[in-house]
Amino acid sequence: MSLPVVAIVGRPNVGKSTMFNRLAGERIAIVEDKPGITRDRIYSRSEWNGREFHLIDTGGLDFGEQDEILDHIKNQVELAIEEADVILFVVDGRDGVTSADEEVARLLYRSNKPVIVAANKIDNIKHKDEVYEFYQLGFEHVIPISSIHGTGTGDMLDVLVSHFPDKEEEAYDEDTIRVSLIGRPNVGKSSLVNAILGEQRVIVSPVAGTTRDAIDTPFEYEGQKYVLVDTAGIRKRGKVYESIEKYSVLRALKSIERSDVCLVVIDGEQGIAEQDKKIAGYAHEAGCAAIFVVNKWDAVEKDDKTLDRFKQKIRDHFQFMEYAPILFVSAKTKQRIHQILPLVSEVAEQHAMRISTSVLNQVLHDAMLRTPPPSDRGRRFRVQYSTQVSVKPPTFVLFVNDPELAHFSYLRYLENQLRNSFSFKGTPMRIVLRKKN
Ligand code: GDP
Ligand code: GDP
Repeated sequence: MSLPVVAIVGRPNVGKSTMFNRLAGERIAIVEDKPGITRDRIYSRSEWNGREFHLIDTGGLDFGEQDEILDHIKNQVELAIEEADVILFVVDGRDGVTSADEEVARLLYRSNKPVIVAANKIDNIKHKDEVYEFYQLGFEHVIPISSIHGTGTGDMLDVLVSHFPDKEEEAYDEDTIRVSLIGRPNVGKSSLVNAILGEQRVIVSPVAGTTRDAIDTPFEYEGQKYVLVDTAGIRKRGKVYESIEKYSVLRALKSIERSDVCLVVIDGEQGIAEQDKKIAGYAHEAGCAAIFVVNKWDAVEKDDKTLDRFKQKIRDHFQFMEYAPILFVSAKTKQRIHQILPLVSEVAEQHAMRISTSVLNQVLHDAMLRTPPPSDRGRRFRVQYSTQVSVKPPTFVLFVNDPELAHFSYLRYLENQLRNSFSFKGTPMRIVLRKKN
């Protein structure tokens, strides 16, 4: 089930990015190692009263060279209408209604999406009545807020959340492996979808599965049911924002949430880009199984070391995803395309694997005997008991004497020992520490 999407729109300088940063809170993806300038971050996963949602600051999207500020606003709004469940229309509460605000409103009328007007920069609550003027823009909700001080944002979020679509049931049964292809624009995702579905033994179901905003392609291969998630989104072409690099992140986020296995597609011809790292990082964080698919291998000039060198580059760039296998393919010549689904099926099995409590405890016990944890000022980390609490991804709870004593490197060691014993190929793993009383 994908999370609701909230898009922030509005003319420049009304406070969109300030508001985004306030709503995005402290949460910064672990893979983003340097914060950079504010406008580097235009997506965030936020939460209000237990409802999670994605937030996009469309003002931070780079639509390329544009002479007119209005063209830029038009693109923002078009993207918001296309992608968002709820639109947050920010205006400057002190300026009154401007012609640019009216233009945004006019564009928004065309959509059936709920629009909430946030009259920003009302730092002094005494001025909150002045925002009534903004009702003339024609939307039901006008909420005075101050992004700088945070006043009013709670009321605004209450209204926002009340317009989220109802949660939907996932349409597929437990046995169906949900796969998505993620990656930057032009790496060959849609070509790979076609290549996979075009394989001889792939039987595509006549009726495409649909959910609220995604068109999926269910199919069978060697008796196993699969569904390619959001294939319509991948295949959709010709929209102005298709070429926007940052936009691809949202697409990825939405399909990752609904997937068991993510194919992280990398352009073999162009090599690894910073954006690839972010996209792969989201799959990792979401607990999806992952396979690196290096596409366009036909177009790469090769000698006998090219493949190993490329593998090493992937390992260097994606150190947090050592578990993910790597395939070198060509959607164009179909080279190794037939290896994709068997690997997906293998990885999906590992993603759903359960280890019995007794075997798990034996393995961890042995590992800790072989390499005992270092002692910290005379105290040593001890694991009393462990158990696997869930799958997809495999999650283990370790009941320990004191979680503070666990060093990151030692947990890494234990994870590696589990991987040595059980493989868990292609899947991230979670280890949760609980203090045993
Ligand atoms: P954007 O172009 O719409 O993203 O606007 P910014 O977030 O960059 O904000 C434009 C200017 O308005 C900056 O100088 C902000 O500090 C200021 N600003 C944003 N929100 C508020 C607010 O709630 N109160 C006041 N007084 N200034 C604000
Ligand atoms: P998407 O944006 O990730 O869906 O990428 P597309 O599937 O639209 O492909 C982008 C471009 O790369 C197109 O011009 C494709 O013809 C080309 N392309 C895709 N796969 C391959 C491949 O395996 N080899 C070569 N040489 N070109 C490819």
